[in-house]
Amino acid sequence: MTTVPIIELRNLRKQYVSVHAVRGIDLQIRKGETLTIMGPNGSGKTTILRIMAGLDTPTTGEIRFNGTKIGDNNRKQIRNQATMVFQKTTLFNTTIHKNIAYGLKIRGFRKKEIHQRVNSVLNAVKLEGYAKRQAKKLSGGEQQRVALARALALNTPLLLLDEPTANLDPETVSIIEETIRYINRQNKTTIIVATHNIFQAQTITERAALLLQGRMVETGTVEEIFRRPSLTLASFARLKNVFTGNSRLLSEGTSLVDIGNGIHIETATPKTGRVATYVRPEDIILSRRPIKSSARNVFKGQITEITDQEPIVRLKINVGKEFLVQITKRSFKEMNLNLGTTVYLAFKASSVHAI
Ligand code: ADP
Ligand code: MG
Repeated sequence: MTTVPIIELRNLRKQYVSVHAVRGIDLQIRKGETLTIMGPNGSGKTTILRIMAGLDTPTTGEIRFNGTKIGDNNRKQIRNQATMVFQKTTLFNTTIHKNIAYGLKIRGFRKKEIHQRVNSVLNAVKLEGYAKRQAKKLSGGEQQRVALARALALNTPLLLLDEPTANLDPETVSIIEETIRYINRQNKTTIIVATHNIFQAQTITERAALLLQGRMVETGTVEEIFRRPSLTLASFARLKNVFTGNSRLLSEGTSLVDIGNGIHIETATPKTGRVATYVRPEDIILSRRPIKSSARNVFKGQITEITDQEPIVRLKINVGKEFLVQITKRSFKEMNLNLGTTVYLAFKASSVHAI
């Protein structure tokens, strides 16, 4: 059985005078799904969200909401069922309660229901007890959480969040991310998040789309996109340990990639010719002694850089090529590592992704 997507974009294009903000956009979003639209500044994220919220019209192409083509006569349908949280939100200069209650009041909700919803959404963003406080006296992070709560109170089936965590402290970021996951699970709300932080896709949504210069260059599950990232994503995401080289087949479906300086990496993908490989820093095992394991890739090298990002320490290790490895601060201390220390790296052929 195929269900009608809640939102569908067909060959959508938006042009501002001479600027093509987005073009050739085809996208389907199922009910209850979460999607991240990733892309650098100016790639067209806000443009797409505004069109999906019914706040803007495409220059050409189609937008369908629950299967119905949206035009000037029925754009209200989306506006009633979608809520957008803007990157720069402004709260009214009054209490938190009134800020959140406002939208509910104009939609004709009764006092009791309003009260319940305000309390429930304040709980969701971990601001219980804040109802009587003045909005303008809150910190930037708290204001952003109120803005999210205000949107959640409307409980529309579609929620569009434009860079909901840009320039916020890590604690606020994790509260907002948690709220997004919770609301999706609890209310089955379809949530679309625009972000220039590519790693956010991994923490909040199941599906992601990559937007570059107004074009959707990739869509897929987060798992698919990050397990086998394209070179475009690799460079945009600044993925670590990306090496290119020539690959030749070995036996049993593996191949060996010559990445230069005498270094060969075995990968569990049968590929020949020019490939890019990628190993996640957290998939590399580090040891001070030669490693005896089934891992197909073992290299010896020296530590050239140490970056302490408690509870994680990132190390650069030169084995002929430079690898980035990530370990816990605790392991770092236990292993008594320093600049210049000789170490061994090991990773499985199945941890090497060939692009
Ligand atoms: P993002 O949200 O990814 O940063 P936007 O959707 O805001 O990207 O913008 C995409 C492109 O469209 C940019 O080149 C931007 O300058 C342009 N643009 C956006 N809005 C307008 C507008 N109202 N008038 C003219 N150009 C615009
Ligand atoms: Mg934007």
